[in-house]
Amino acid sequence: MVGRTRDWIIRQLTLGEFDSHRHVWGKALVMACKIAVIAYGINLVAHWVMYVFDLLPYTLWAGLIAATVLTPTIAFSVAFVVYAVLGFAIYDLGVSRAELELLSRTDVLSGLPNRRAFLERFNDCHVDKSLMVIDIDRFKLVNDRYGHAAGDEVIVAVADMLSAVFGDKGFCARIGGEEFAAFSSELSFAEFAALGEVARQRVARMRTTVDDETVRVTISGGVTRALADQKFRETFSRADKALYDAKEGGRNRIVLSYDTAPPLRQAAGIEPVAKVSPT
Ligand code: GH3
Ligand code: MG
Ligand code: MG
Repeated sequence: MVGRTRDWIIRQLTLGEFDSHRHVWGKALVMACKIAVIAYGINLVAHWVMYVFDLLPYTLWAGLIAATVLTPTIAFSVAFVVYAVLGFAIYDLGVSRAELELLSRTDVLSGLPNRRAFLERFNDCHVDKSLMVIDIDRFKLVNDRYGHAAGDEVIVAVADMLSAVFGDKGFCARIGGEEFAAFSSELSFAEFAALGEVARQRVARMRTTVDDETVRVTISGGVTRALADQKFRETFSRADKALYDAKEGGRNRIVLSYDTAPPLRQAAGIEPVAKVSPT
């Protein structure tokens, strides 16, 4: 009984979390009302006890008038200010925490989700899905020839292109230096691979101008399918092997994983397809 009462009081007086300034004001108002009622109640009981033991230095009537006028007013004002100040502090902390959360999952250069965000999203997706890993071809040469800053601009341009192509049909991230990944549970394997091919073609046509120089790059990709319970690590190694094949095959191409088990291919509704691209 004591424990439940204590829990109830804590629940009543705990500030909790806030999603807006309006929420803070509202909660401070409710809290201040509760405190004012409790303080008034305690004051009345104290007056009654003092009256019973004949300890009141003034009449009960005078005491009750003072208690009624002063206690709720003072208790409400003080509690409202304190709760509002604490509430805004908690709200600001919550906003900072949300911003930090977002930052920890965002790639600073490209603005795309980072590897951590991608892994979490992929592993939290408990349905069949397709994965593609993408790597910019011979990117070291871009850095060597045009400089690191130009390389950065190319990474951003490729990132923008990939997010434009996959849009809301897939989840796209920068998972390493010049490596990207995308997955989708909405598209069939064939549709997803076809989008990868669209991305490859668009990047190949893309021109990035840096300091009056025109930089052109191509990308290679490896695509595989994952069953609902397959995690990123094992799925990635299949896609990465296909990416390796794409590089070995001459780059600027998308290759489907051949390690994909036949039942998986069947489940995906496709037969093993030779290289999707290349030109
Ligand atoms: P491949 O076609 O085999 O992928 O060749 P590559 O040159 O792209 O591959 P390699 O792994 O040899 O080089 C990748 C380069 O990417 C090396 C590294 O300096 C560069 N790089 C990694 N992260 C960044 C970045 O954030 N900005 C820039 N400008 N360069 C980066
Ligand atoms: Mg690489
Ligand atoms: Mg590369």
